[in-house]
Amino acid sequence: MKKIQMVDLQGQYFKIKADVDNAVLNVMESSAFINGPEVKDFQTELEDYLNVKHVIPCANGTDALQIALMALDLKEGDEIITADFTFAATVEVIQLLKLKSVLVDVEYDTFTIDPEKIRAAITPRTRAIIPVHIFGQCANMDEILQIAKDHNLYVIEDNAQAIGAEYTFKNGETKKSGTMGTIGTTSFFPSKNLGCYGDGGALFTNDDDLAHRLRGIVNHGMYQRYYHDEVGVNSRLDSIQAAVLRKKLPHLDDYNEARRKAADYYDRAFGDHADILIPTRAENSTHVFHQYTLRILNGRRNELQAFLAENEIPAMIYYPVALRNQKAYFQDSKPEDFVNTDKLLDQVISLPMHTELDEEQLKYITDKVLQFMAL
Ligand SMILES: *Cc1c(COP(=O)(O)O)cnc(C)c1O
Repeated sequence: MKKIQMVDLQGQYFKIKADVDNAVLNVMESSAFINGPEVKDFQTELEDYLNVKHVIPCANGTDALQIALMALDLKEGDEIITADFTFAATVEVIQLLKLKSVLVDVEYDTFTIDPEKIRAAITPRTRAIIPVHIFGQCANMDEILQIAKDHNLYVIEDNAQAIGAEYTFKNGETKKSGTMGTIGTTSFFPSKNLGCYGDGGALFTNDDDLAHRLRGIVNHGMYQRYYHDEVGVNSRLDSIQAAVLRKKLPHLDDYNEARRKAADYYDRAFGDHADILIPTRAENSTHVFHQYTLRILNGRRNELQAFLAENEIPAMIYYPVALRNQKAYFQDSKPEDFVNTDKLLDQVISLPMHTELDEEQLKYITDKVLQFMAL
């Protein structure tokens, strides 16, 4: 059996090696390392894939979130509502810009931000909501967009984990994740569903004026060369990464399908177990399984992780600490307001999930999990 890894980037690379190697060598020969044609072409191809008017490439997914907030003319102390149960980047950039993060609980079933909790957290200083499409599935965008409309708020979708997922609104309309709010952001970190071979990221919007603004901010606030109209940043996707992404984008749907197949296998193995809850698949969102995350109900999650490690199966706890209890982002809170987040911190475990899992590995992993649960 192949060694089991949390993410098998090497296996995926070898399948497209000739194609990618060629593309990277071409960039080196052209020596258009920054803002070359590869970046522009990738931008257009991603716009077509997502069916969105503007893609603005940038250096990574954290920058994308920061740049999105910078483009919205927010003032110090303005409040941004986001989920307590997510990767830290989302809240980090809020604080970096001297805005106030307001963390709220998530739904127990989908792990995504709870719309009722958003409503309850709105104050006269609330300016934006950042739903995170965590683990590969969209948050409840029907509700979130309605709340945003009712209170005149911006919506920034943190789509770092869900590129390629589709959301179907109650009225039947279907859109790609990241293209529903004011701005969508993503990351091309190597292990993401669409990963490059270094750092990369992008912003999406259908708003022409905002797109212009974002393009300026990523480039030192320059709208005309050497005229700096506002304080921006230097955040670029480089041509080598763009060349890699151009070769991988055509495979994205197949990659997500391979993840879904692995998830189906896991679901069949664990679906009936009394002490295991499999990931909930929301009715209105496809799931692209950035992570495959179980909830272990017998209180032995950490022991399960250790048992799997002894059997050479990596498994991760995403996320072990609530953001509101992190030293850097501490938010005074009542435990009764975060019942779901706190339960999830104790129960979740993410199993190996990537495009290269084969049946032999999946059988071994599921057998070992079930063996432990029967002990
Ligand atoms: C990965 C990730 C980010 C940050 O992306 P980087 O490219 O690593 O900066 C932001 N938000 C979420 C939810 C992520 O998973």
